Parts: sequence; C-alpha cells; structure tokens
Amino acid sequence: MDLVIARPQGLYCRAGDFYIDPWRPVARAVITHAHGDHASRGHGHYLASTPSETVLRSRLGDIALQTLSYGESVKIGDATVSLHPAGHVLGSAQVRIAARGQVWVASGDYKLAPDPTCTPFEPVRCDTFITESTFGLPLYRWPAAETVAQDIAAWWQANANAGRASVLYCYSFGKAQRLLAMLERAGPLPGPIFCHGAVEVLNDAYRDSGVALPETARVPLAAARGAAVAAYRQALIVAPPSAAGSTWLRRFGDYSDGFASGWMLVRGARRRRGVDRGFVLSDHADWPDLNRAIGATGAERIIVTHGQVAPLVRWLREQGLEADAFRTEYGGEEEYEGKEEAGSATSAATPAADDAATAGAMEQATTGRPAIGAATSDDDLATRRVPVAARAADGSGDEPVPGTGIESASATGNAGEAGEAATRDDGRPRGKTRRSPRGNA
Ligand SMILES: [Zn+2]
Ligand SMILES: [Zn+2]
Repeated sequence: MDLVIARPQGLYCRAGDFYIDPWRPVARAVITHAHGDHASRGHGHYLASTPSETVLRSRLGDIALQTLSYGESVKIGDATVSLHPAGHVLGSAQVRIAARGQVWVASGDYKLAPDPTCTPFEPVRCDTFITESTFGLPLYRWPAAETVAQDIAAWWQANANAGRASVLYCYSFGKAQRLLAMLERAGPLPGPIFCHGAVEVLNDAYRDSGVALPETARVPLAAARGAAVAAYRQALIVAPPSAAGSTWLRRFGDYSDGFASGWMLVRGARRRRGVDRGFVLSDHADWPDLNRAIGATGAERIIVTHGQVAPLVRWLREQGLEADAFRTEYGGEEEYEGKEEAGSATSAATPAADDAATAGAMEQATTGRPAIGAATSDDDLATRRVPVAARAADGSGDEPVPGTGIESASATGNAGEAGEAATRDDGRPRGKTRRSPRGNA
C-alpha cells in the first residue's frame, strides 16, 4: 500500500493522517520549506525543521508550529517521521516516513551544489523517493557556484570603477542570502551592499537563525537625493525580480542590472528580461545532480512532483526504474515572490511572467515531441509575453503553452550538447549504489 498519495489538498500520508506541503488548508501539515508554493497559510498544525522556524514565522505569522531537528524522529499515528537536510534554502528538509515496513522520502525542493547559508543535502535511503524536477532536462547543467560568485563580484567591481550602481535581481528568500554569503567568500567587496525591503527582512531572519551574512542596509537611504545617488555608485543593490522596470530604480541614478537564476541558462529568458547580465545560479538541482540524488536514495520507485515531470519520468523508466508522477501545485517560487512584491514595486512588463513562458514552452517542447537536442530559434519567444491573467491559468508552468518551441541552452551556444548529455555516464541514476553528492564535502 502506498504511504503517500496525491489528494486535492496535497500529498497525503494515510498512516499518519497528515499532508506534506498542502496547497489547501488541512488539519496537519508537514512543511519541507518556507517558499510560498510549499508553505501556505491556514493549516491547523504545522511540523517543520528547527532551522526553518524563524523564516516560517516571519512569512506565515502566528502558526501552531512544532519543530524537529534534522534526523530527529517523531511518531505521528502509525508513521515515524523525520526531517533531513535538502540543501535548498535555510531549513529546507526532506520528509522521511517509515510505516508498514516501507520507507518513503519526499524531497520538497533540493540542490546538491554548495550553499554557505544552509545544511547540505543528505541522501536518505528509501524504497520510494518523491522528487522535484524543476530543471529536469539534460541541457540544465550549472557552472560552479564559486565561479558565478566571482563573475558577479567582477561585474560589480567594473561598475564601481565606472561610478555606476550594480542592481542584482534574485529571489528574496534563499537566493539573495546565498549570493550575499558567497560574495563575501569570493574576496574583498567592491563597495557597500543595499537591499530592497523584501530582501532585507529575510536577511534579518537568516541572521536571527545564526547564519553569517555581510553587512547590508535597507533601501532607501534616509539621505538627500543627491547624496544618496553618490552613495549608491559603488554599491551592490539586491532586489526581487519584480523591481525590474519599476520606478523604485530611479533613485540609483546610472546603473547596470543583472539577474541571478537557473533560467539565465536559457538565452531567450535572459533576453526577455532585458537585463545587462544573466548569472546562472539556481537553488534547484541540475540534471546531473537530480540523477545523482535519485541514485543515492537507492529507491526502486520514483514519483515526480513538479517541473519537467514527463521528461524525467520517461528517462527514469528508460533506466529501469518504476517512475510515476503526482499532480501538485508546486513550482515557480518567483510566482509567489511576485505576489508578495506586488505592493512595493510595479512593473508593466511583469518580468516573472517570462519564466513561466519559458518553463511552459520547454514542457510543451519536451512532452509534445522527443527532440531535446532540436533547438529552434528563440526569436519567436523573444517577442512573446504572457499576460498576468493568462499566467495565472498556466499555474506552475506544468501546463503546455501553445505555439512555442524549445529554446537553446546558451552556456556554450551548442544546443547539440543537450542531446549528447542524456547518454553521458555521469548523468545516469545509480540504482542501489550509494553515492555521496558532489560539492558537499
Ligand atoms: Zn523552494
Ligand atoms: Zn518549490
């Protein structure tokens, strides 16, 4: 009997009578992490990891919250439940459920790449592994995070030398703090760091949780306009994506802007953002790491929840594993950020919509036809924008967006690489062989 099933409210464990990251109000919720698509309001009781508490409370307010340290277990009904690091954001956890002689693990979102602001992903042996697949296509391969941090620092330094502010867009919970911590490790900072209020409130939550971050100040400065512009000239300004194109930016005078996201690997997404620089940095596993993580669980059955669901299911079946999908409402942290930022920054272009178009387009391309390596021009996508209303109907991006083709991976400009990648040895799940994840030493 299945320990976890998909219900209209969320993923449900009958043995313990609780839900995992439910999207509709339920009596008992086990929360993997505090991103808006996983942690919602209105549940009777919450169980989450101890390190997630400060952020969870800052986002959800006064909730009935029970916390568990990583590795600590608790009996809920007939199920034994424990939480294990997922390496995604501060406090992110995989949920391990043992009952009726089986072990199931639900991953939530995860990554294996290094992140100084959270506990590294820990492989957990199980019979069935419920996994995300946000970047579950062979073309998604991240550059080393340290290299990306150095690229950002070099861009900031060049701007500072030219007397120009550096505005960096990234998701305010997780990515912003990871970037700040990585920049401090990359070398001496070229100037001061200012953060949009939506970012700064999370910086505070991280610091309250004991995570060391470089010094930051909240925008706006309480100085006269001329003096403020001068202060910003050497500065890095970290802002949520919804600030792009808004009047909020006028205070900085002359500036260069960049965007840090896994989607920046996709040339069309970067172009449509209209930013000067795209930095490829994601808090989700790339294709090789998805396969590594899945292999390390030793699970013979895999259930995919969100992202590139159909391609990953097909690939896993080809590897001889039992693979299925759960229909969920997870996906698109940016979607929730957009909602949160709606009052503080307005943008006619709604940049977050572009990522949904990209995700939807790729889903369409991969489910509608098998040609992962057959990239078409991204020009048709470049002129395409998804209205906010249409985007809401798109949901997480799992629904195909009609009339679009796949985009090419731009890291090397070699779209053919994506096709070859599927047969590379290091991209293969390892079945029962336990492998330690890369970069967590
Ligand atoms: Zn997340
Ligand atoms: Zn998510």
